[in-house]
Formats: sequence, structure tokens, C-alpha cells
Amino acid sequence: MPGTDRDQALSELKFRDPVRARALVEALGRRTAELGRAPVSVMHVCGSHEQAIAKFGLRSTFPRGLNVIMGPGCPVCITDTPEVDEGVVLARQGVHIATYGDMVRVPGTSLSLADAQAEGAKIHVIYSAGQAVELARSTSDQVVFFATGFETTAVATAAVVLGGLPPNLSILSAHKYIPPVMEIVAEMPETKVEGFLAAGHAATITGSAVFEPFVARHGLPVVIAGFEPLDILAGLVKLVELIRDRTPQVVNMFPRCVTREGNLRAQEQLWKVFRSTGGRWRGIAHVPNGNLRLRDEFASIDARRRFTIDLASLWDCAPPALAQSCICGNIMAGLSSPTDCKLFGQECTPEKPVGACMVSSEGACKIWHQYGGHPDLGGDA
Ligand code: SF4
Ligand code: SF4
Repeated sequence: MPGTDRDQALSELKFRDPVRARALVEALGRRTAELGRAPVSVMHVCGSHEQAIAKFGLRSTFPRGLNVIMGPGCPVCITDTPEVDEGVVLARQGVHIATYGDMVRVPGTSLSLADAQAEGAKIHVIYSAGQAVELARSTSDQVVFFATGFETTAVATAAVVLGGLPPNLSILSAHKYIPPVMEIVAEMPETKVEGFLAAGHAATITGSAVFEPFVARHGLPVVIAGFEPLDILAGLVKLVELIRDRTPQVVNMFPRCVTREGNLRAQEQLWKVFRSTGGRWRGIAHVPNGNLRLRDEFASIDARRRFTIDLASLWDCAPPALAQSCICGNIMAGLSSPTDCKLFGQECTPEKPVGACMVSSEGACKIWHQYGGHPDLGGDA
């Protein structure tokens, strides 16, 4: 094994050490018991956190009094139906659509991009914004990059925009900005969330300071955590401590990647290209400042301005009846679990998804279906 691979593997194992994990599980149990009430609910807002929790079986080690909820942390799940429809309409007009893999199967009002592809539309799965540029350079046809994801991926879109796009490439931005949706969750009257575990990836860009106004406004603690099992367990121990001590603050438990100010160069590029504006997140609500749209200076590469997008052309097909029963919105708001949905694992499976949460590898329903969501191993922890 080459040196760097070996070092990386050893480094990963360090954060999966079973002895340390056991000690953290015990500490989490003690802290939760010290609260003297149950259940206590905390939310993480990241698909990678849910994947790690499910993949490493962490949920079975959480104390019974601690409810760790996945919030609106999957960029695919929260891409709203009309945004998918915009991509579908453009694809049916003969434009090449380049987008990230999971987006292809996400249902729109009546069709997904995969359905449009089955009708003959030109849909291309890409793995980076740079590949959209390469695709446009390889053809003289119009190419639209259907750009989805949170600020982490929006930074990559901004970088290619600032690098200069081929004239036949435009951007259909469905990018979203995480901090405002935490405000929505905190303000929901029915919310039970008492603290947030924030995603280390996103905080690498935004910095930990971005959460300080939120903590001051809502009096809820935010702990930034990485994605290895020990990162998540240590983050939860700290979060429960802050709840126990009634000391809401931002604590950075991922200092190997995250600083207080974040990546200033990336932030500069992000806000040079995008502005935040209100818009709907699928199944949740209108989120003030939750959508990232191209600034007016980039109107010439904005697909919404370059093309006429006639969404009404899709309305002749009614939405599938089953979709009416999908409770993705409640799941992403932390009010329900995937297993509360009567379609889960029955009519709705990864092979035949009814809702967006069953499509993406970061979607709560898909993760729970893949790994089992809430295994009860019968322990007392
Ligand atoms: S983009 Fe990264 S930080 Fe954001 S939800 Fe996905 S995995 Fe988590
Ligand atoms: S199981 Fe399917 S239908 Fe039910 S909430 Fe999840 S994605 Fe929606």
C-alpha cells in the first residue's frame, strides 16, 4: 500500500477505535441521564451524518432518552418539484442537461429527468461542475448545468462560472443555503429540537461563526462535527452537555478542518456569483434566503433567462396518486421518521421511489431502507 493510502487508512481507523467509541457511548449515556428527562431531541442537518450513523450502527448505541433526528440535510431531497420540472421542460426542448446522479430519478410534478430521458431527452450524469464545462466543449448544442446541492457544491459551481463558461453552457441553479433552514426548524411551533449537530463539510466553507447569530437568536446550541463514528459520538456528548448546562453556544468539534472564519476565498467566490433569495424547499416551507440564485451580472449564463421555460406544459399529466401520501416534508422537518410512512419499504423502495427521500444516497428513507433505521439491539445504553 503506498504511503499516503496507508496513512489515510490508519487515520480513518483512529476515528473508528472501538475502545474510544465505547467510552464515548458510555459518556453519552451518562450525560443524557443527567438531564433527568426524556426524550431529548437533537437534529443533524447532513446526509453524510445520517449515512455514518446508519452504516456504523450508531443509533443502536444511543441512549434511549436521546432522539437523534435527521433534518433537511440532503440536497437532492429538498430540491423542489418546480425546480425538477424546469430541468425536465428544458430537456424536452432538446437541450442537453448535465446534473449530479441522484437528481435524475427525483420525481417532478409528473416526470423525472429519467422519464424524460426514456422519451429521448439528452441527460448526462456528471460528478463535478468541471465535467459540465467539458461536455459543453464537446458539442455545439446548448447544454444546461442543472446545479444542485448546498453551499459546499455551490462553491464549485461558482469557481467554474468565474473561470469562464463556453458560450453554449448555462446554469440552472437549484443550490440551497443551509443556515436559514435551521431558523425555520427552530421556529416551527411543533419542533422538539433542543440542539443541532452541524455538518463539518459545509462549515469548512462557511466557518463556525456563521452559526453564532442563530445561537444568539434561538438559545439553541450548535456543535460542528465530522463524519467518522468518534466525531459524531464526541459531537453528541458535547451537544448534550451544552443542553444539560443550559449554555447555548457554537462549539467546533471538527477543528482539523473547520476554523471560525472558514474558507474566505471560497466564500468570496460564492457570494460573487450567487445571491441568497427566498424559495421553497421540497416538502418543508418557503425558506427566506434559503435559495442561491445567479447574480444579475451573470444573467447571460442563467438558463432561466436564456430559455423560455413553460412549466404549464407539464401540467397535463396529473401527479401520481401515491405521491400524495409521501411524508418527506415531515421527515425533513424532524417531525416524523421514515418508518412512520405507510409506503416505506412497500410501495416506496429505492428501486421504485415515490418520494425524493428514497432516491438520494443522502435521503433519510433510502438510508434507513439500506441499513435499517433504528435497530434496537436490546441494550440499556
Ligand atoms: S453537501 Fe456535504 S455537508 Fe452538505 S449535506 Fe451533503 S454531505 Fe453533508
Ligand atoms: S418512504 Fe417514500 S413515500 Fe414515504 S416519506 Fe419516504 S420517500 Fe416519501
